[in-house]
Amino acid sequence: VEKARKGVMEFLLANHPLDCPVCDQGGECDLQDQSMFYGIDKSRYKENKREVPEKYMGPLIKTQMTRCIHCTRCIRFATEIAGVPELGAIGRGEDMQITTYLEQSIQSELSGNVIDLCPVGALTSKPYVFEARPWELKKTETIDVMDGVGSNIRVDSKGNRIMRIIPIENHSVNQEWISDKTRFVWDGVRVQRLDIPYKRTEGKLIPTSWEEALKIAKEKITFNKTTFVAGDLSNVETLFSAKILAEHLNSNKIIENTDLNISLRDRSVYLGNSKIEDIDKVENILLLGVNPRVEASVVNARIRKAWLNGAQVFRLGKPVSLSYNVHEIGEHLKDLQVFLEKYDNKNSFWKKTLIILGYGFLTGRSVNSAFNTIRWIVEKKKSQLLILHPDASSVGALDLGFGQVLNREKIIENSDVVYKIGADEVSVPQGKYIIYQGSHGDKGAASADLILPSACYLEEDGLFVNTEGRVQFSKKAIHPPGSAKENWKILRAILSECNYEANWNSLNELRGEVFMSFPHLSNTVVQKKSSLELSGKPAKLNSKETIKCYKKDFYLSNVICRASNTMAELSKIRNNNISLGKFN
Ligand code: SF4
Ligand code: SF4
Repeated sequence: VEKARKGVMEFLLANHPLDCPVCDQGGECDLQDQSMFYGIDKSRYKENKREVPEKYMGPLIKTQMTRCIHCTRCIRFATEIAGVPELGAIGRGEDMQITTYLEQSIQSELSGNVIDLCPVGALTSKPYVFEARPWELKKTETIDVMDGVGSNIRVDSKGNRIMRIIPIENHSVNQEWISDKTRFVWDGVRVQRLDIPYKRTEGKLIPTSWEEALKIAKEKITFNKTTFVAGDLSNVETLFSAKILAEHLNSNKIIENTDLNISLRDRSVYLGNSKIEDIDKVENILLLGVNPRVEASVVNARIRKAWLNGAQVFRLGKPVSLSYNVHEIGEHLKDLQVFLEKYDNKNSFWKKTLIILGYGFLTGRSVNSAFNTIRWIVEKKKSQLLILHPDASSVGALDLGFGQVLNREKIIENSDVVYKIGADEVSVPQGKYIIYQGSHGDKGAASADLILPSACYLEEDGLFVNTEGRVQFSKKAIHPPGSAKENWKILRAILSECNYEANWNSLNELRGEVFMSFPHLSNTVVQKKSSLELSGKPAKLNSKETIKCYKKDFYLSNVICRASNTMAELSKIRNNNISLGKFN
């Protein structure tokens, strides 16, 4: 075996350049490791070494194709997993080259995964090029918050700078993949940061001290009607502290993005009864008002896997390009009724069906009766239901009671002060006093009267509940910049200013309080009710309401993405492709 391996290594190295000292794969290269054991110290190859020109694969992937060993892993990933057959090999024998055929950027939200798959330094990360060596990096295992899936990631940092983000295998959540947004958003962490408190004086934001900022915040929220708005990236501990503060002041608390037109009486309403890994086991998948390709790219890869294994996929809503074939049901709720009637007697069909609901469906005007119909089918025909929440904080905020209001606009209109916790998207009418607690100088900070700078998701520990209800821990990788503070500490200080006697002085003590009030959050195993509570037999769906889909720009959906140069470039390429009709 050893002799055979040495023979193979000799062939692999025959045309391989002596690039190790300047190669980004150095120190974590499979070929380097193998040649340590099976390589020989001289070459019998006398001919000229071949040289392959660099290929353009977009702003994420740097190529050095002379190093390619033609293993074709990247081609198989693009074709089989991502479902975009844009990578391939041209030429034969020594002239074989791996390329994107048309030398354009790969049109997949998962394209960065080929960097991990490439066993050599042929495909490396463009934003990370020549930045660091693997042994210089501090590695922190944490979770991603760019969507509601909670992909498991490893964050590599050098000093106080994030250098790269790579996936960690978790077969129940993200398998071994992460989206390009998760992987490349890190350059947005270090720019546009709020690092000192600001107050608005004569129309201008001027720097102030923490003592003064806390005093102003206390005065404003104690003597006025305040509404607390939870943002899309807030962890459970932050939201719990805000909830305590809101209750102490007899104020309202709402979620920024969640216009859910359904009554949230029970956890099963917004979680359904199944898990992400159940996608692997079903024979039919029904997508209602959801574009999993952009709302949860790694879940989309899982749906594609199920489809490759024979599952059928049905879809209600405006057509969007997915990476598998779908049977389009239509765009209106009444089309759903026709579909349900067609399959009404097919109990065996429903038993092996997973229904995936998106916010496009749950935020519709006539959603109440349609949602009741879906729950009825799930309960009576023993189907499975999964709800795709687009934001990392959605489920945690709903668990803590931030979503139990229907008319968000009215609540904001009736308040004097709006306290935004990383909430940049919520619109506030003129004349309200706005306090913004957040990490980046974005829309929220621009309209604020008082800014309290805080840590972002890679700078503080916290709990997040993902779209299926799984509790996961996010860990601190670097320190927040300047005098920005961790979110729970800011709210703890304001609670003290407001004479609330909090029982916690550390994050662990605060977590203890969270677990005491919400025991289900202390368990990292997904807990769901097997049966859903029903509210009466459903009525016939005859609404002509069109089911919408995800509204945000995938690459610019939150403050960190919007600060990132890489995301801006990706968004430009995607929008250009949409306008050329290549993608939607
Ligand atoms: Fe060295 Fe590996 Fe880079 Fe080849 S791919 S030059 S063996 S580090
Ligand atoms: Fe070449 Fe890397 Fe693709 Fe393998 S994964 S074929 S080494 S570019």
